[in-house]
Amino acid sequence: MARIAFIGLGHMGGGMAPNLAKAGHEVRAFDLSQEALDAAEKAGCGRAGSAEEAVRDAEVVITMLPAAKHVLGVYRDQVFGNAPASALLIDCSTIDVGSARTIEEEAQAQGYEMVDAPVSGGIAAAAGGTLAFMVGGSDAAFARAKPIIEPMAKAVIHAGGAGAGQAAKICNNMILGATMAVTCEAFVLAQKLGLDPQVFFDISSQASGQSWSMTTYCPVPGVGPKTPADNNYDGGFAAALMLKDLRLALEAAEQAGVELEMGDEAEEMYAEFVERGGGGKDFSGIIKMIDDSWEAPSGQ
Ligand code: NAD
Repeated sequence: MARIAFIGLGHMGGGMAPNLAKAGHEVRAFDLSQEALDAAEKAGCGRAGSAEEAVRDAEVVITMLPAAKHVLGVYRDQVFGNAPASALLIDCSTIDVGSARTIEEEAQAQGYEMVDAPVSGGIAAAAGGTLAFMVGGSDAAFARAKPIIEPMAKAVIHAGGAGAGQAAKICNNMILGATMAVTCEAFVLAQKLGLDPQVFFDISSQASGQSWSMTTYCPVPGVGPKTPADNNYDGGFAAALMLKDLRLALEAAEQAGVELEMGDEAEEMYAEFVERGGGGKDFSGIIKMIDDSWEAPSGQ
């Protein structure tokens, strides 16, 4: 069992850290939010007064932070030099490939082994220990990281070298964003053409229009398995986070010199939905913008 510093106890980290404690690890948790720290402590984690205190003597450091600027700041200012050089560093946040590679190079220069390990699956999967992890880093670092990650995961896949986990994550989520948008468009058109949504689901989920967005996460209430559509598009994967991931994909594409017309189109649709107050809604809620029934929640 390992001494694990866990920094970032938000929607995702707040579910993940307790699963490590339940597996028998000694978890020292830190977040800028006292409320998040209280919840982690109640769920079996130890409480640290600062990130520096959390990482001191740690064998493993795990971060689950909002964006690249937080990740770069926490590693450069609090982890490097305070965590023992023998500590394994695992960043689970979703950030751009370039920043992931930069911070992994800086970690190596300081004698640390580090992996990027972004996740697929939402808040429920974080709490349930059923996230899919896409890991970038050396074979040796992956071999060390895998057993640590396992209590939080249903799958831990080695994607390649530094940054490869982030590359897999943004490419996967670009498929998700675009297929969800076009699945919503198909349901709206089907209905306008007089098709019953359930009948269209029964057909398309067994025909070549089938995708995860159709069969597992159907955007129409009352059709298919239970999804955020059945809960007024609350919970699930926020449209603002989908927009963040699409922008990371487009940024990476620009740097790689690739033009992504479908990804670009999906980004524009999600940007409009977020601008019109849909950022906190599940990303499948974009169907309401497409069928023109969208009304922003009050106060937005
Ligand atoms: P969140 O905003 O709920 O949580 C982030 C936490 O980090 C907050 O509690 C915040 O207080 C803390 N934090 C910020 N700066 C800090 C610092 N300097 N020191 C200590 N704590 C600090 O975000 P989330 O939904 O948990 O997402 C975390 C990451 O996971 C993001 O990169 C996101 O894109 C990714 N992700 C989220 C989901 C999802 O469904 N929410 C799914 C997959 C991946």
